[in-house]
Amino acid sequence: MLRFSSYSILSFPLSDGSYALLNGISGALDWIPQWLGARLENVLASRDAQAESELVQALDAATLDSFRERGHLTTLSPDQEREQVCAIAAALHDAAAKRPSFLIVPNLDCNYRCTYCFERPLQNSLYQIHLAAASPSSPRKVVMTRDQVDAAYRAIVQLQRQATGSTGGQLILYGGEPLDREIKAVVSYIVSRGLQHGYSFAAVTNGHDLDAYLGLLGPGLIEQLQITFDGPKPIHDRRRIHRGHESSFEKIVANIDRVLSETEAEVQLRVHLAPETLANFCEVLEFFRSRGWTDHPRVVIYGSTLYAKNSEGKVRSTVPNDHLARELSAFTRRYQNVYSCPSEFHATVALRPVFTDGTRFELRGVYCSANTASYIFAPDGAVYSCWESVGQDCSRIGTYDGPEGLVIDLEQATRWFHRSIATLEECQRCAYALACGGGCAQYAEYNTGSLYKPFCDHFQQVFRHTLAENLELFLQTGRSKLGSPKAVVRE
Ligand code: SF4
Ligand code: SF4
Repeated sequence: MLRFSSYSILSFPLSDGSYALLNGISGALDWIPQWLGARLENVLASRDAQAESELVQALDAATLDSFRERGHLTTLSPDQEREQVCAIAAALHDAAAKRPSFLIVPNLDCNYRCTYCFERPLQNSLYQIHLAAASPSSPRKVVMTRDQVDAAYRAIVQLQRQATGSTGGQLILYGGEPLDREIKAVVSYIVSRGLQHGYSFAAVTNGHDLDAYLGLLGPGLIEQLQITFDGPKPIHDRRRIHRGHESSFEKIVANIDRVLSETEAEVQLRVHLAPETLANFCEVLEFFRSRGWTDHPRVVIYGSTLYAKNSEGKVRSTVPNDHLARELSAFTRRYQNVYSCPSEFHATVALRPVFTDGTRFELRGVYCSANTASYIFAPDGAVYSCWESVGQDCSRIGTYDGPEGLVIDLEQATRWFHRSIATLEECQRCAYALACGGGCAQYAEYNTGSLYKPFCDHFQQVFRHTLAENLELFLQTGRSKLGSPKAVVRE
């Protein structure tokens, strides 16, 4: 029996009532009229066989042929489609696992003391480590040593050659604060050693000391920066506190201006949003506009909810992403480079070729690189897989600076690297499975005790919103939303 695919993804209605219809197995995207979208929305919600059959019969012959060819209509059963999804996810996962990603953490400490920082327990413990360990014969392991940098590169080259037969690509500098001026010598060493092996860099930084790093920024060097704001100056300075107590806002703003005028580096500005700061997003954007950062070809701006842990260690977003998408779209629509949340930004980047080149939407089997082959090298001598849990046992997958070089804990690495839609049973019947990838594994583990659980984080609603926003813009202007940087700093 011909029926609509169980992996049909319908956008929210556009302003004229029409819809985007994406198939979550074939990646085909089509623009459909209001009458069809509205009836399909009911069919997908109810799966009423009679209503579905009547809707299929209402389609003309050309639409029937096209929808069959593009996967919107199928004769496969839901179980057969699920098997397809699992097979695609496994193949995508395996392909991604052959492209390992690498982060280097030059510095576990930070020159900021943000009020909400999830790394605070780690930073506090560093002082104990430092006091106990610092001596000429036993150097502290808060900042990477040159020997550790060399050991990290030996491991990176080994892992990448095993996977791809070559070396090169982008390494991400992460922290603590990776671009603290006090550690410039070791960061310069990391960059120069990386260049010898064909690597370029991105950095996730608070931006405070960028003036000390301008000579290391630009194509072939540190090409991309991700920098966070917490709101307009009074809020930002209250929440993002420099250890020396100087205004972090003014320093970062001056540095970003210099990065954009004196280098060719690309900048992602992440604006943290909490319930009490949501209303300030418009003010922040107006300030960014006054600096020439909105619609700047080398800048991307997006809101980002803060995640908080409750007393039981369970994580929740302080503002749900679908709320951000709904509430902020009136502001984000005004600009080519502004997005309500990371999910909207990343989905837009993934959708862009569909509009610009007419290709099919690129499916994904996993949510992030921590579930394929992500190696994070830290000054404590450990290798971690997850950005969020650097310094924690739960994501430690090995060591790299001992006499035997890289040693991977196979049990831990397997635990992290085998999570995909193919191994996430609860995601396999979700229409969005191959658009989402299963959500953040670490937050799933915090909340459920298992990495192998979904963490939806309102992905479905944000994706429906993003589909509508992008199609609407394309229909109005004939072009896709900019999202201009060639690549993005993404987990
Ligand atoms: S998305 Fe989640 S699992 Fe992936 S690196 Fe980030 S925190 Fe870790
Ligand atoms: S995490 Fe949620 S939205 Fe994502 S694929 Fe799984 S069930 Fe669907």
